[in-house]
Amino acid sequence: MTPVVRATSPDRLLQGWGRTTASVSRVVGPLEPGALRELIAGRPDRGLLARGAGRSYGDAAQNAGGLVLAPATASRIELDTAAATVRVAGSTTFAELLTLIVPHGLLLPVLPGTRHLTVGGAVAADVHGKNQRADGTIFRWLDSIELLGGDGELRTLRANVEADGPAFRATVGGMGLTGVILAATLRLIRIRSSMMRVTVRRAPDLDSLMAELESAASRYAVAWIDTTATGRSLGRGIVDLGDHLPAPHPLAEPDGLRYGPTSAPLAPRLPLGLFNPLTARAFNELWYRRAPRERHAVQGFPEFFHRLDAVAQWNRSLGPRGFLQYQFAVPLRARHLVAEVLEALQRVGAAPFLGTLKRFGPARGGPLSFPLPGWSLAVDMPLGGPRLDELLHQLDRRVANAGGRVYLAKDARLSRTAFDAMYGPLEDWRAARALLDPADTMRSDLGRRLGLCR
Ligand SMILES: Cc1cc2nc3c(=O)[nH]c(=O)nc-3n(C[C@H](O)[C@H](O)[C@H](O)COP(=O)(O)OP(=O)(O)OC[C@H]3O[C@@H](n4cnc5c(N)ncnc54)[C@H](O)[C@@H]3O)c2cc1C
Repeated sequence: MTPVVRATSPDRLLQGWGRTTASVSRVVGPLEPGALRELIAGRPDRGLLARGAGRSYGDAAQNAGGLVLAPATASRIELDTAAATVRVAGSTTFAELLTLIVPHGLLLPVLPGTRHLTVGGAVAADVHGKNQRADGTIFRWLDSIELLGGDGELRTLRANVEADGPAFRATVGGMGLTGVILAATLRLIRIRSSMMRVTVRRAPDLDSLMAELESAASRYAVAWIDTTATGRSLGRGIVDLGDHLPAPHPLAEPDGLRYGPTSAPLAPRLPLGLFNPLTARAFNELWYRRAPRERHAVQGFPEFFHRLDAVAQWNRSLGPRGFLQYQFAVPLRARHLVAEVLEALQRVGAAPFLGTLKRFGPARGGPLSFPLPGWSLAVDMPLGGPRLDELLHQLDRRVANAGGRVYLAKDARLSRTAFDAMYGPLEDWRAARALLDPADTMRSDLGRRLGLCR
């Protein structure tokens, strides 16, 4: 039953991007660091959690019955152009940051598929971009984090100081359960152009799609995969390869570099059931056929990095029941699971309408970080019935047995047993959290579900 929430109360029904896991929390913020510290030190009854932009898919940014800081603090950016670093508040969005830094010829080294996330959310999930293989996750680009721990203590955790290591590693990827990230200092990359040289190539089956990604020499490489294709076409898709232009584009950037995504039209609310296996198939077929066999183009950052942002709130279009994303990563030796997951989803009549395949490279994150060297498949689909639910539990077991894992920032349904098999043992993470948050103050719905907090 959906709880009743009075419009005048600070209680709010919160949900993730997939709109499947609503719960009610008392929402406060932004607060000054002093007030925040007092609030945390007071150990609120049912715990507290920082929320960013709510772009995680499931229940990671919710705390049923407790407090949620949304936003935790005001946005703030201090740019050092000479050093190519930025000190930025946890509640600042990537969109705000990009607007400021790109004209200086600087760019965030890790850009997830949306610009509407916050720095706090990015650090807490240890996000990756289309360049994970070349550049790792955001973990690698952090100089320090300013963390208000669950014990109310303000700490600066430095990436290159050994003594800070356990707390740093527990916080990056720690899904907000060690404290509130007040600020982070990030190293930026220098760019000469705000345009990308892009190659788009169609691949008729999974082997050729994987071969394209495997041999990709570009800094950025990702594939859209047709999740509905069967038989010899199983796993066909379109590979997107991108590199920064080495000099300003004479036509597109006559006045220098800039970052100016146009405002996006709002997605329509579509009726329940519009995304079914038939329409998913038609959509995927159309998408595949529209792509040329090979095309070279020059694209701006919004088009190359954040295509999905071109429609605001597209998550509303997928029916009132919401949708799931199943994103897993498996080691190279378990690449067969990519095909098997696609086939299994088709067999239970899921309507997978969007799929993304990435080749991950070396990973150097914390214990709860997601990427590992191998293959990552992400499939978006409307919430299904019991058959889909049971299948996903089976797939969790297979992914875990193969040494793989499911991405917590996208998850809304993983069981504690499956989570332990994928990420455990977590002694180091739990020991670091016990020091940062001895009273178990930082709590979330995801944390409770997976046994990471009370
Ligand atoms: C369209 C789309 C594309 C995406 N593409 C990618 C991708 O390519 N790669 C990728 O890695 N991810 C991707 N994501 C997932 C997204 O990057 C993560 O879910 C990210 O955590 C969202 O950030 P947020 O600010 O919305 O955080 P929220 O969803 O609000 O919160 C996520 C977690 O961060 C914690 N948190 C937030 N702020 C703070 C803070 N100040 N201090 C401590 N903890 C905090 C929350 O407690 C929660 O546990 C995508 C999501 C969408 C919707």
